[in-house]
Amino acid sequence: MRKPFVAGNWKMNKTVAEARQLVAEMAPGLGSFQGVETVLCPPFPALVAVSAMLAGTGIGLGAQNMYWEESGAYTGEVSPAMVAELCGYVILGHSERRTYFGETDRGVNRKTVAALAHHLVPIVCVGETLAENAAGETAQVVTRQVREGLQGVDGAEASRLVIAYEPVWAIGTGKAATGQGANEVVRECIRKPLAELFGGSTAQAVRVLYGGSVTPANAAEFFGQPEIDGALVGGASLKPDFVKIVQAAVK
Ligand code: PEP
Repeated sequence: MRKPFVAGNWKMNKTVAEARQLVAEMAPGLGSFQGVETVLCPPFPALVAVSAMLAGTGIGLGAQNMYWEESGAYTGEVSPAMVAELCGYVILGHSERRTYFGETDRGVNRKTVAALAHHLVPIVCVGETLAENAAGETAQVVTRQVREGLQGVDGAEASRLVIAYEPVWAIGTGKAATGQGANEVVRECIRKPLAELFGGSTAQAVRVLYGGSVTPANAAEFFGQPEIDGALVGGASLKPDFVKIVQAAVK
């Protein structure tokens, strides 16, 4: 049995003061659910404050990115150890990082390996663009992102991975995929390459999320799919109603 998993990606939203306010509103509700792993991913400057507020609640904390090097002259970057000091999780390879900051499958791979080495749970994002989807390239693109993003990952560590299938055309657009469509991509283009890389039982142990315009109204459609274990939520994680999405994930 895979434990349901829901993460909120706040992206570049919320000052420290605003983050404190949002967590104060949401934490009592979020912390009340058993049987679902819930993670909040605020921007870097809010991590210290949110970490203190989440202590003892059972709610996890994640960063939205990190660099793979241990330390050194990498101005503006944050190392795996810096993230691991505060967080248990890190989002890697989000499509906004790939689109606006030139992240490649190779870079996502190096970050994933580094995150696992620092005992972080990487939430590795994959997904096709609108143009790739229209060209019938979804399977090819998502399979490649999984294979290249996870190559060299130690098989003994691989079951700790979380993968988020986030079709780029569904992110922030209000146009979510269908539950059935997302389930098929997860089965064919994520679990199959996972099985090739790490074997069938690891492929079945890895949590795979759907992301892209998830709301309290459509969350149950995704959580009811056999291959989908939860959600990576952007816009809807910035509202107290995020609690309703997490509640929908409780089995
Ligand atoms: C995301 O940022 O990962 C995301 C899925 O955003 P949204 O829920 O706003 O589509």
